Amino acid sequence: MSHGDGDHERFAHYVQKDKIMASALEGTPVVALCGKVWVPGRDPKKYPVCPMCKEIYESMGVGGDKDKSGKGGDKK
Ligand SMILES: [Zn+2]
Repeated sequence: MSHGDGDHERFAHYVQKDKIMASALEGTPVVALCGKVWVPGRDPKKYPVCPMCKEIYESMGVGGDKDKSGKGGDKK
């Protein structure tokens, strides 16, 4: 019944896990990587991953271990 764009409701957005937990407890809205603000409620597994979130997520190099392997230019 809510009026407004509904497209984002059909995607599962990436959100920091901490935020999700807090939201689940307090019912506060979270901000996805793509900038989408919403209150997660339904099972996100039912939805395809938001393409924008996915792109941002991958570009961030999640894991933060990019320095470990010393990619390229590491002559020994
Ligand atoms: Zn998104």
